[in-house]
Amino acid sequence: MRKKIIAANWKMNKDINETSEFVYAFRDEMKSYDGTAEVIICPPFIALDAAAELLRESPFILGAQNLHYENDGAFTGEVSARMLKSVGVSYVIVGHSERRQFFGDTDEVVAKKVKKALSSDLNVILCVGESLAERDGGVTEKVLERQIKAALEGLTPKDLPSLVVAYEPIWAIGTGRNATPQQAEDAHAFIRRTVAGMFGKEVADSLTIQYGGSVKPENAAELLSQPDVDGALVGGASLKADSFAKIVKSSSR
Ligand code: PEP
Repeated sequence: MRKKIIAANWKMNKDINETSEFVYAFRDEMKSYDGTAEVIICPPFIALDAAAELLRESPFILGAQNLHYENDGAFTGEVSARMLKSVGVSYVIVGHSERRQFFGDTDEVVAKKVKKALSSDLNVILCVGESLAERDGGVTEKVLERQIKAALEGLTPKDLPSLVVAYEPIWAIGTGRNATPQQAEDAHAFIRRTVAGMFGKEVADSLTIQYGGSVKPENAAELLSQPDVDGALVGGASLKADSFAKIVKSSSR
């Protein structure tokens, strides 16, 4: 049985007060939840400490949206794995397309971040996904294979239980246009085959692969019902406690 994981990526949204308002409301919404999905909340850096405190007595897990691959030093504005661990972070998102697009996170940088996070005992949500031009050009699988191989090269099967892959087609992020369940399933099955080729079938079969890209309460259940879709990475719809709770609940149907 693969772990189902639903994660909230708040991006550059919510200060400390808004974070605490969300956590109180979300805990309330989830009071009667008896499903098995793991729930991860990834606030901005400045709210991690407050969120850790608020989530302490809850089953929900704290994640961060980025890290630097060095331990410390002259890297103004950056945050290391060790620092994330010190505030109680368990998961970190690596390789989000917004980081790749706006902040120079190349495949090489992504690989360094993955390795640093895993060697620091952080779990990783590795994001991969093609642009619209790449999908239209018929190179979706080529792009996914390149991103997966670059990010995971040098890891061993022992590292894989600490890794989650999020398939996030760039054209579906923040656009309101989600991949169809079949498009998501095809990409997830391809990612699983690629990981099987690198680390073996058993490892690939237990890998959680999330879908991300305009997941909403209205489309979550159908996307999550696909055999290779093991969870969701949610941006916009994770900013409201009630819509995020509805998405988590639809993972158990
Ligand atoms: C994301 O940023 O990871 C994401 C999937 O965003 P949205 O749900 O808003 O498309």
